[in-house]
Amino acid sequence: PCEWLLYCRAGFEADLAAEIADRAALIGEEGEVAAAAPNSGFVRWRTADDEPANAIHRALPLGGLVFARQSLVAFAPLSLDREDRLSAIAALVEASGWSFESVWHETPDTNEGKSLGRLAKSLSRPLESALKRAGALRRKAGGRRLHLYWLAGDEVQVGISFPGNRSEHPGGVLRLRHPHDAPSRSTLKLEEAWHTFIPRDAWPLRLSDGMQAVDLGAAPGGWTYQLVRKGMFVYAIDNGPMDKGLMATGQVEHLKEDGFVWEPPYRLDWLVCDIVDKPMRVIDMVERWLVKRWCREAVFNLKLPMKRRWQEVSRCLARLEQTLAANDVSAHIACRHLYHDREEVTVHVQLDV
Ligand code: SAM
Repeated sequence: PCEWLLYCRAGFEADLAAEIADRAALIGEEGEVAAAAPNSGFVRWRTADDEPANAIHRALPLGGLVFARQSLVAFAPLSLDREDRLSAIAALVEASGWSFESVWHETPDTNEGKSLGRLAKSLSRPLESALKRAGALRRKAGGRRLHLYWLAGDEVQVGISFPGNRSEHPGGVLRLRHPHDAPSRSTLKLEEAWHTFIPRDAWPLRLSDGMQAVDLGAAPGGWTYQLVRKGMFVYAIDNGPMDKGLMATGQVEHLKEDGFVWEPPYRLDWLVCDIVDKPMRVIDMVERWLVKRWCREAVFNLKLPMKRRWQEVSRCLARLEQTLAANDVSAHIACRHLYHDREEVTVHVQLDV
């Protein structure tokens, strides 16, 4: 399989294509973007000389990519006979010599994509039987998963994912239920950030009762709600009004101040920031917090209303890394375009102790 297939939010194909082209060049991986059609919901990379795509897939893991939701080693898209779609898929899988533990049918996160869902569902049982018969679907197969990415009723791209370097959610999308008492829908952005950046077994240690946090640009309180729900005390910085129910918990102090200049009275555990402003201005502010060690961990958004989003993100992340290094602050930085993010990305920083 000589393609690398990445899913993204529809409308972000050019950003993802620019990102992987930059990153591939940096590590000397040869190849080219084979598809990044506007609003298609995916980007395909083809290796030079039909080399297996496993190398670039491994060298640029999903967790280190910003705009990708899923990362697969893939075969070139397969054209199917509408009368018999199964045989061609089964033949490709058998010829590959790979075996799998599960099969997922997925579609691009677009309206056309959604309309293919029923077809994919109807094929799932018969295909699984055929693969089982051929020994290509079995209980122990290194955790590998077979992905059938439906591009049209007669076109599918067959991909492979490996444990530890993939999203465990169909379509690479983590769906979360909106808590009925949360003050805003943005609340899910912070919740998704925690699911994405903090391993589940570390939650009790890093998101715990009695911790202290600041929420810059907090109103009406969707992010503060998440912090309060974890038992934290929150300084909510915003000129706007905070949700009354949240204030009634007694865990929130609302300060009508400028989030870019406010300083904490003592060291806090968490900084979160959802202020709509220039990305570099947010980076400047967060850098000050980290260099002064005013918090241990941070989640903040960079708003990207511009066209060349990858270039802006890349410039911001490079600056953050340089500043921290120049000040001997060692930290782990990650940045992802989350499902609940729109024209923005979410950055997570954890200072090393
Ligand atoms: N995260 C919030 C939630 O979940 O409810 C929504 C935050 S909203 C996108 C951005 C907020 O930033 C607005 O309430 C706005 O008043 C505030 N804001 C803008 N500039 C600010 C500044 N310099 N200091 C503090 N807050 C600011």
